[in-house]
Formats: sequence, C-alpha cells, structure tokens
Amino acid sequence: MFKKILIANRGEIAVRIIRACREMNIATVAVYSEADRDALHTQLADEAVCIGPATSKDSYLNIYNILSATVLSGAEAIHPGFGFLSENSKFAKMCRECNITFIGPDPEAIDLMGNKANARDVMKKAGIPVIPGSDGALESEEHALKMAEEIGYPVMIKAAAGGGGRGIRIVFEKGELQKAYNTAKSEAAACFADDTLYMEKYINKPHHIEFQILGDQFGNIIHLGERDCSIQRRNQKVVEEAPSLLLDDKMRKVMGEAAVKAARTVGYYNAGTIEFLVDSDRNYYFMEMNTRVQVEHPITEFISGVDIVKQQLRIAAGERLDLCQDDIVLRGHAIECRINAEDPSKDFRPSPGKISGLHLPGGPGVRIDSAVYQGYIIPPYYDSMIAKLIVHADSRDEAIARMRRALGEMIVEGLETNVEFQFDILSNESFKAGDYDTSFLKDKLVKNE
Ligand code: ADP
Ligand code: ADP
Ligand code: MG
Repeated sequence: MFKKILIANRGEIAVRIIRACREMNIATVAVYSEADRDALHTQLADEAVCIGPATSKDSYLNIYNILSATVLSGAEAIHPGFGFLSENSKFAKMCRECNITFIGPDPEAIDLMGNKANARDVMKKAGIPVIPGSDGALESEEHALKMAEEIGYPVMIKAAAGGGGRGIRIVFEKGELQKAYNTAKSEAAACFADDTLYMEKYINKPHHIEFQILGDQFGNIIHLGERDCSIQRRNQKVVEEAPSLLLDDKMRKVMGEAAVKAARTVGYYNAGTIEFLVDSDRNYYFMEMNTRVQVEHPITEFISGVDIVKQQLRIAAGERLDLCQDDIVLRGHAIECRINAEDPSKDFRPSPGKISGLHLPGGPGVRIDSAVYQGYIIPPYYDSMIAKLIVHADSRDEAIARMRRALGEMIVEGLETNVEFQFDILSNESFKAGDYDTSFLKDKLVKNE
C-alpha cells in the first residue's frame, strides 16, 4: 500500500479522501490555492503545498505545479477526486511518465469514455443500448439540422466533453436549432475548452439511473447497484437516492450486467459510474461513463457497506478486489441532499461569504461530508456545493423522515443555502410517493424554468 499520496482537489471530496487515508495509515499531502489557505482540507492533511492563485486554471488545474508538489513531497500517487483534473487523460499520462500512480483508470480508458460522442459509438458496438442520436460529433449547423430531421424532434445538443450539466440544450423544433447549436457551442468552449457537440433524441421524462462499478487491474469487475439521480435542476443533480424505486431485481441484474460489460469493453479499472436514462416504458439507454469517484458515492457506501474511496486506493496500489458480485448485498435505503451556498429565491445564484454560525445534524444513520466550519469564509471562485447530507434507514419512508429531521437540525448562518429548498423537495407528496422523473423540479418546485 502507498505510504503517502497527494490529493489534487479541494472541498468536501479532498476531506473525504484524507479521512480514508488516515484510517489506512497513508500520509496525505493537500494542495491549495491562495484562496484556500484556511480551507479544511489544507488544515486536515499531514502536509499542504500552495500551488498557485485562486483561479482554478492557475492552481487546481495547474498540472506542472501539482506534479512538482508530488515529486517534492515524495508522494507516490495522486487522487484527483472529481471535477478538476479527474477526467483529464493528459494528466493521467503525465503522472505515468513521472512514475506517479494516478488513482483512477488508464489514460486510454479515460480517452475512450471522455469524449461522450465517441463513447456512444464504443458502447453501441459492444451491443449496449444507447440513446438514438448522431454517430460521432456534429460537423456543422447544417449537419445538426439534418441529424435532427433524421432523429426526429425534440432533440438534445450536448457537449462531447461535457460535465456538471453544462453545454446541454434541448431543441423542440427546427426554428430553435440554430440558437441552441450556437449557445451550446460557446458554453462548451468556455467550460471545457472543447466546442465539440453531438446530438441525442430527447427522452421525455426519463429517470437518471446510474450504476457504480469497481474493477481491479486483473480484470475483476463488479457493480454495487444503482442510484436514482432524477431530482435535477438544469441537468445537475440535487438529490440522489439508492436503490431506485423503478428497478425490480430482474432489471437491476440486466442493467448491472450491462454496466459491467461497458466497463470491461474499455479495459476499465478503479471506481467508475455508468449513467443510463430509463424511459417511461422502462427501456434503458447508456448515456455516459464518469471515469472517477462520483459526488453521490456515499449513498452506495451506505447500502452496500463498501468504502469506495478505500477500494480506489487498494485497486490503484495493485491489490486484487476482495469482493465478488455475490458478496454485494444491498441493505436499506439511502438519500443524499447536496447542500449548496446559493440563494434559491434569486435564481439559485451562488452565495459565498463567512459562515458566522453553524450547526450540523447528527444522530443515527446520518453522515455529513463537508468542508465547512464555523468562521470559515467560502471563497467565490469554486463550486457552490459546501456539504453533502446523507442518511440511511431500513426503508425509504424512514430515510425520508430521517432526512427531513436532519435538514431541520441544520443551521448555516451568514449566507444563503438551499437547505429549505431541500426540505421542500423531501416534503413533496409526489417525491414521497416516488412519483418523479428528471422534470420534477421544473414541473413542481422551480418556477420560471
Ligand atoms: P457527479 O456526476 O459526480 O454527480 P457532477 O456532474 O455534479 O458530478 O460534477 C461534479 C463536479 O465536477 C462539479 O463541480 C462539476 O462542475 C465538475 N465536473 C464534472 N464534469 C466535468 C468536466 N467534464 N469538466 C469540468 N468539470 C467537471
Ligand atoms: P453531464 O456530463 O453534464 O453529466 P449527461 O449526459 O450525464 O451530462 O446529462 C445530464 C442530464 O441531462 C441527464 O441526467 C438528464 O437529466 C439530461 N439529459 C441528458 N441527455 C438527455 C436526453 N437525451 N434526453 C433527456 N434528458 C437528457
Ligand atoms: Mg452525467
């Protein structure tokens, strides 16, 4: 096992990784930007190295400084967390060239799955159902028009390098295509420095259902069941739960096997997630693969009892998976609410600033993965997610009651958060009945969207 690793990330995921390392006796090196001197991850790690100014491009995306910090601190491996460099195959390759272990899959697997337009092709060839759409990228606006006629409106235009729900536009009819094409293209260029677009049929009111997989470097791959992440705002997840009410054991088995096959097809190892859309007739379609640990991994940890981050470290260190598919028994029900520093009454605009008062919930079945403390000043430069509140109980009804109880205990003073908005979701009768799809927030709770 590694003696020391560097964590190329910040916020709650950096803290999550430090915690796993401490329990495994692995020393940790945090990296931080000038805006993150007082951040929790900077303080909790055994060592911390400043890697540049506040702007991500100059610090958390600064490959040269991160690799230098790794070599100078004597760390053997880098955990990239999620976002930032986690799905950057060039970074993974440079780690390899520097004899540093990248805690994730091969750069080749990242490449195959990283371009979402190509990933569709690879999966289609492997016999996994994909959403009807363009074969590869859209070459021009004319090409997009032609594809849309072929596929049939409504369609979605999506960034091939996309993530975090950005670079996606829905097009209901021909007249809207030009504008959608152009805005998606400029958003993709701005967010991902890659304006490649592709097209998919728009699936009406689907469920977003994803499978967590784990694979070692010896070809053993298993899945840890699914997560339903259909509660979304602007294609970005807000609440996640596991298991999904939509799947019975048979469908879970079929989709789980498809997810394992998808991973096997690209020679995948480490933790990864296969995202599917499931339509109202319960047809499932591959949507994308995230080649990294995911924000909502804790709900799977709760129901499976598997520590996904520790598994990532063991796999990267070359150990064999100590679990087989039959060992995975899912127990109870788990829900996660993403707690963001944002103002739901002002179009969810970010609300950075000083946390003047803080009370975090606790008690049975409650887990908080957070990067905040009382007196902490949330910088304006990064993602507004400041904590994840995760609960586990024997049944879905009890998990909902527990989450409402925990949200009720939570106090964050000094800035705006979405805690009450989350409480409204968990109190909604349709949500409680399990009657929801990806349009839920737009249809029921968020006006003017
Ligand atoms: P998850 O799929 O784990 O739910 P999200 O889509 O919410 O993750 O993304 C997690 C974080 O990573 C967010 O801060 C998001 O903006 C960022 N992110 C995800 N994909 C990309 C990408 N391709 N490029 C840059 N940032 C990304
Ligand atoms: P990202 O890389 O940003 O996570 P995804 O491809 O995973 O993008 O899509 C994000 C969300 O957008 C999905 O969970 C779903 O709600 C919506 N979406 C994406 N593609 C489609 C589609 N073809 N039809 C309907 N909704 C879609
Ligand atoms: Mg996605």
